[in-house]
Amino acid sequence: MKYDVVIIGGGPAGLGAAIEAKRTGAKKVIILERDRELGGILNQCIHNGFGLHEFKEELTGPEYASRFIDMVKEFNIEYMLNTMVLSIDENRNIVALGERGLIDISARAIVLAMGCIERSRGAIDVPGYRGAGIYTAGAAQRFMNMEGYMVGKRVVIYGSGDIGLIMARRLTLEGAKVEAVVERNPFSSGLNRNIVQCLNDYNIPLLLSHCISYVHGRDRVNGVTISKLDENMDIIHESSKFIECDTLLLSVGLIPENELSREVNINLDNTTRGPVVNSSMETNIEGIFACGNVVHVHDLVDFVTKESRIAGRNAAIYALGENKDKSYVKTKGGNGISYIVPQYIDTNSNENIDLFMRVRNIYENKKLIIRCGEKIILEKSRLHMIPSEMENIKLSPHILKKINGDIEICVEGA
Ligand SMILES: Cc1cc2nc3c(=O)[nH]c(=O)nc-3n(C[C@H](O)[C@H](O)[C@H](O)COP(=O)(O)OP(=O)(O)OC[C@H]3O[C@@H](n4cnc5c(N)ncnc54)[C@H](O)[C@@H]3O)c2cc1C
Repeated sequence: MKYDVVIIGGGPAGLGAAIEAKRTGAKKVIILERDRELGGILNQCIHNGFGLHEFKEELTGPEYASRFIDMVKEFNIEYMLNTMVLSIDENRNIVALGERGLIDISARAIVLAMGCIERSRGAIDVPGYRGAGIYTAGAAQRFMNMEGYMVGKRVVIYGSGDIGLIMARRLTLEGAKVEAVVERNPFSSGLNRNIVQCLNDYNIPLLLSHCISYVHGRDRVNGVTISKLDENMDIIHESSKFIECDTLLLSVGLIPENELSREVNINLDNTTRGPVVNSSMETNIEGIFACGNVVHVHDLVDFVTKESRIAGRNAAIYALGENKDKSYVKTKGGNGISYIVPQYIDTNSNENIDLFMRVRNIYENKKLIIRCGEKIILEKSRLHMIPSEMENIKLSPHILKKINGDIEICVEGA
């Protein structure tokens, strides 16, 4: 099978990239999705809050996905469901396992859109028993919202990531008692609006600077011990207390799913754990592009869609052999910035380039400063910045022309 553009993953990133590739002129475009339907993680996110930037409306996850699935159908874009991509190589040959067995596909360009996996208990070393009743928040969300199973009655949530916050509300609405959300950091790792709408509105306590120091219950969880942490993240033993519960949900972070990328020697960023990309969303392997959560964890799907358009358009341009000369400089996170995507930008671009970044700490009334050598290229004032909310700076072609070397972005005075 031969295609112009093959998209791996049928979540919002894959759907957006496929539509844009087709719009740009690629004739044969296909989406390969291992699940039984298109839409990715959005299918289990039945709460609203999707699409405020993209559609100026508050949609649920399935509603947001369905708008793109409808467009995929309108554009007659092919897709294969229940089809897991097993390997890719530098020459853009793909092996997938589908309903009819192994499939070999040759692609002129590939877009990686495989999303994220959840960090599990093993990765965070919580001591204690390993009884039933311990779930990642995303698995519990899928059980409840898609399969119709209630996961527990008295619940403690470890980690204040968005999925955990949203599940605290969901479990409460379904009749469970959420005893607490326990967070190691002195700040939440979820969006502010989710803390207000999912915890405060339901009087669910958020215990910052606390950890779960033991899980009790040999066959099924029957409680957890929680302890306060000091500024060095060490346990203050005398603060430990027991909370009775039958279920523990872990919302302790997402990791971009890059087994396929590793196999083909795509350079991965140590901080984002996703591919290093340029402003065309192309990886270091020519003709292989990436977008969405596989590149870095997004809190808003609208930004995933934005990125997916860039990846889809450039994949189609590559497949059609219409590449133009580009002049890349590196973007580097300075003081106060934990990462920037894309890691390389084309200063010859005639279009705006969006830089996405996360700050390391909570900052009030500060500026984001972009420097090229000693020269300040751009300054952006921000009233409030927190690590859980992604920052976005737009570089216009006018600004790009001022850049003649690598750039560094930092938080003023951090
Ligand atoms: C619980 C939760 C709540 C959220 N709430 C909001 C919100 O309120 N508002 C908002 O804007 N955003 C929200 N988001 C963020 C948004 O949903 C995500 O950023 C977005 O879904 C990421 O899209 P994606 O396509 O990159 O990944 P995904 O949606 O994860 O899609 C990746 C797809 O790739 C497939 N795949 C992976 N590997 C392979 C393979 N080898 N072969 C074939 N297919 C493969 C997967 O099956 C999956 O369908 C939320 C996210 C979560 C998890």
